[in-house]
Amino acid sequence: MIDTATAITGTGVVAGLGYAPVQWVKPAPILPLGHDRLVGEALRDAEVTRWKAAVETVASRLTLRAATNSGAAAEVLGATAALATDRGLQRAAGKLMAAGSTAEAATVDSIAQFIVKFEKLGGLMAERVTDLGDIRNRVVSELLGLPEPGVPTPVAPIILLAEDLAPADTATLDPALIHGIATRLGGPTSHTAIIARQLGIPCVVAATDLQDVPDGAMALIDGAAGTVEVGADPEQAEAKVQADAARRAAVQSWKGPGRTQDGTAVEVLANVQDGAGARAAAKYPAAGVGLFRTELCFLSAAHEPSVAEQASIYSEVLAAFPGQKVVIRTLDAGSDKPVPFVVHPDEENPALGVRGIRLGNADPGLLERQLDGIALAAEQQGVASAKVMAPMIATVDEARDFAAACRQRRLSPGIMVEVPSAALLADAFLAEVDFMSIGTNDLTQYTMAADRMAPSLAALTDPWQPAVLRLIRLAAAAGTSAQKPVGVCGEAAADPLLACILVGLGLSSLSMAPNAVAAVGLQLESVTLEQCQQGAAAVLRCTTAREARSMARELLS
Ligand code: PEP
Ligand code: MG
Repeated sequence: MIDTATAITGTGVVAGLGYAPVQWVKPAPILPLGHDRLVGEALRDAEVTRWKAAVETVASRLTLRAATNSGAAAEVLGATAALATDRGLQRAAGKLMAAGSTAEAATVDSIAQFIVKFEKLGGLMAERVTDLGDIRNRVVSELLGLPEPGVPTPVAPIILLAEDLAPADTATLDPALIHGIATRLGGPTSHTAIIARQLGIPCVVAATDLQDVPDGAMALIDGAAGTVEVGADPEQAEAKVQADAARRAAVQSWKGPGRTQDGTAVEVLANVQDGAGARAAAKYPAAGVGLFRTELCFLSAAHEPSVAEQASIYSEVLAAFPGQKVVIRTLDAGSDKPVPFVVHPDEENPALGVRGIRLGNADPGLLERQLDGIALAAEQQGVASAKVMAPMIATVDEARDFAAACRQRRLSPGIMVEVPSAALLADAFLAEVDFMSIGTNDLTQYTMAADRMAPSLAALTDPWQPAVLRLIRLAAAAGTSAQKPVGVCGEAAADPLLACILVGLGLSSLSMAPNAVAAVGLQLESVTLEQCQQGAAAVLRCTTAREARSMARELLS
């Protein structure tokens, strides 16, 4: 059991304070696998009755929750409720119970049959496999008399605690009721962090000591400090939360342009994934797009779109930011972003395999056609020298070839700095291209040799790691000497405190999830360039990520 007034430390990923009772995401039940899966003939009708009651309870809870939610959340819940009472599922479970299966085993086995069917059908049906698993876990929990698994749906504010959140857990997260999220696992680029950032919910990940905090304990979460304080003084906690609410209101009213208190201009830009995302981003005070991840438009494209089709997608993004900076990144397919028409299925280690610019080794036409599509979109939108950058550049030769292909089409070439070699040789790379953008997500992954998707490595995949900061400094310094722009477009740019350090290191643009723009802009406006530079110098002397973070907080918050 946890001591009172204990601060549990993790990695803060979304700034903000929340004070409320905690509630855990309940784990999935252990599914029945053993010999207790069969009952004698006399008990079979009773099993069917038990099964029916459990399914009805689960379906009616989901229907009720659908009725109290709106929009996409209501749709997801309604569809899951309908799936729970699907006739086909009922028949399959009925057959199994008639042959002697317990209600639990019939639930597990009938749903397993449907999972196989849905996976074979592919497309939208395959996407519903997660829902089937969710229904199975709920019904089995109900049968075993366990609490409902998954994310709770509170009626009053809570701080949500979890091991980690999967995308499917999050359809119903309501920021009005979820005042904070803290997870034991996860890192700054985990799904939990991305979702919390999108919803603007204060969030701490990798808080490994959370496990002893009981449901109902009052906790103060601080997403900037990365702490969860259990048993905090209620009055002080409330006062802090109110002060934070005032800060958040100030964030809402920030309208740009990005600059430090003493007027040094900093481009504060948005990361987007397609036309709709770009139009949504245009509603935020971003000065343009610093990263358009083109591969995200094609995650379900079985065939490579034609040049004209690609051009119409790229045009949509250019059109959302007329006359403003838009940086289009060529396909970074592979590894964590598989694109069906460019697969390399036999890779032992996809993150170190054929991804990004390397796709051109096997199929040079892929890049050529994408650049043609971008050039066509630029022409259609009247953009004179559209900015295009290549991901996963590791050698100067790759940068030179890419730059030549861009210039042939009157495109302005840039590269991502994601591989440590690009930071170490930044001056040589900058001699070839017009600009660089540091992808801190991958730069951190490759510098620390830690999979950015692995929740258990969160402490390593932290852009505050001193080695990562030093590589960023190298790239920034090369930009200053070459007088060419170098920015950051990884998640690090969305951390207001780190944003100040990045500016202090000499970076000229920061690109981030659109809803992080205002908080970063406001923070930059509260500090001078000199303070940022002093902060950067102090942080570079630190030898641990935690020390670097708290040094920056001390000097710049
Ligand atoms: C990065 O690596 O930081 C980056 C911006 O690219 P992505 O997250 O798409 O890999
Ligand atoms: Mg990357």
